[in-house]
Amino acid sequence: SDFATLPLAPALLANLESLGYHTMTPIQAESLPAILAGRDVIGQGQTGSGKTAAFGLGVLSQLEVKAFRVQSLVLCPTRELADQVAGEVRRLARELGNVKVLTLCGGAPLKAQRDSLAHGAHVVVGTPGRIEEHLRKGSLTLDALTTLVLDEADRMLDMGFQAAIEAIVGQAPASRQTLLFSATYGAGIRPIAERMMREPLNVEV
Ligand code: AMP
Repeated sequence: SDFATLPLAPALLANLESLGYHTMTPIQAESLPAILAGRDVIGQGQTGSGKTAAFGLGVLSQLEVKAFRVQSLVLCPTRELADQVAGEVRRLARELGNVKVLTLCGGAPLKAQRDSLAHGAHVVVGTPGRIEEHLRKGSLTLDALTTLVLDEADRMLDMGFQAAIEAIVGQAPASRQTLLFSATYGAGIRPIAERMMREPLNVEV
């Protein structure tokens, strides 16, 4: 497959084959070389473009499975999207061994989420309000974070999550990689993206 032209671990490549992912979608072909090189990327693409696998492969490529700490955080506007993203990341991770992907969304009991966090996770997917609450209460720390993903960033802003996002970004290590995906890239999100990203590559599909 043309994924084999990328510096992906053999286990990830073999799994992509078994998932039937033989050809990269346009957003994957344009963004994955930069994502895997550790660059910040702004991707403009709708649902169905394959953006989840684009950032999912980035997240999984940098993961140290033996280090049982939260190394990636994916922010999503809704629980439905968070569940979808977590499902896709788990599918992509099937051959990597025990990769723990935790979803943390508002509306679910806080205590159960705190217990799950205490047991550890590699990747957290969730909505900004609830993630910010866990950070504020100390049940989640981002000390070991290497990749921060903002999925459907325009929708998150429309839903009033800007303050929560800024608080979360403020707690993430400056050395992190930031990946931002959005259906639109208008005046609302541009200044925020510019503040939290370093020389991002812009990819439009
Ligand atoms: P997304 O835009 O991330 O919601 O992905 C849309 C759908 O495309 C999902 O069901 C993915 O499983 C699928 N998909 C993503 N990348 C590929 C690929 N390279 N080849 C085939 N299917 C893919």
